[in-house]
Amino acid sequence: MKKIFVAFFAMCLMFPSFVSATESPLELPPEPFYLPVLMYHQISENPKRLCEYVISPEAFESDLKLLKELGYQPITTAELLKYAENKYQNVPEKAIMLTFDDGYLSDYVYAFPLLEKYEMKAVFAIVGAFADIYSVENADKNIRYAHTSWAEMAEMNESEFVEFVSHTNDMHNLKKRRGALRKKSESIESYKKALECDIAALNEKFEEHFGETPTALACPFGNFNQELQQALKESGFTVILTSEQKNNILTGKEDELLDINRIVRNHGMDLKKLLDKLESQQTKK
Ligand SMILES: [Zn+2]
Repeated sequence: MKKIFVAFFAMCLMFPSFVSATESPLELPPEPFYLPVLMYHQISENPKRLCEYVISPEAFESDLKLLKELGYQPITTAELLKYAENKYQNVPEKAIMLTFDDGYLSDYVYAFPLLEKYEMKAVFAIVGAFADIYSVENADKNIRYAHTSWAEMAEMNESEFVEFVSHTNDMHNLKKRRGALRKKSESIESYKKALECDIAALNEKFEEHFGETPTALACPFGNFNQELQQALKESGFTVILTSEQKNNILTGKEDELLDINRIVRNHGMDLKKLLDKLESQQTKK
């Protein structure tokens, strides 16, 4: 044993590179990038409407205050992509993503001013067909169910605290298919064609109103499978937001941004408790 040690020591003296070669397996793997993503839908002042998908303006404001106090930095999907491209070097110490699905008018009325007030970013996943309905003259602007118009969204898009992503052009329904998934009776070819048509239609609207096309998509109703993931990847999407209720532990694995979990922020949720739980899971790993 002693002889082996002496021989090893002699090798190290003769060939310093031998030392670094033996050191490398001891290097620690890079730290994962933890990214909790919260999913909001609508905001309402009517206490009777508060539920899994509707929270009060006060609750949203308290979320922003809490995140600020705790030092969380909300990021966009474009920032997430940049961090991934940079192998998660120089990422915020506490990153989070706030997302709003469906493009409700209440998000423009309540969430947008609060994001500006607290200087915090959010990602809005919008449905082209809904925006079209509420962009016509004399559109019904009932805050209970109305969606944001293209003009209102163009105004939001001027803000550095807003990012718009796709929630499909017209696949946010369960009548034709289950969200953006293939119908059982449909061939793969005609499904791909339908998906491509939908993507092209929304791209055109994004180009017209925002001057760019979306590179991230939130799956309608959280309906997601490998077939959809692959088709979206082929169409150039770089981030896909899904709805599995858990944290994201990102390490740079291929395609990991094409399935980003999101946790529903429902009425009555204790956000502090959730964040504490997620943080304690991180430190255990
Ligand atoms: Zn939706």
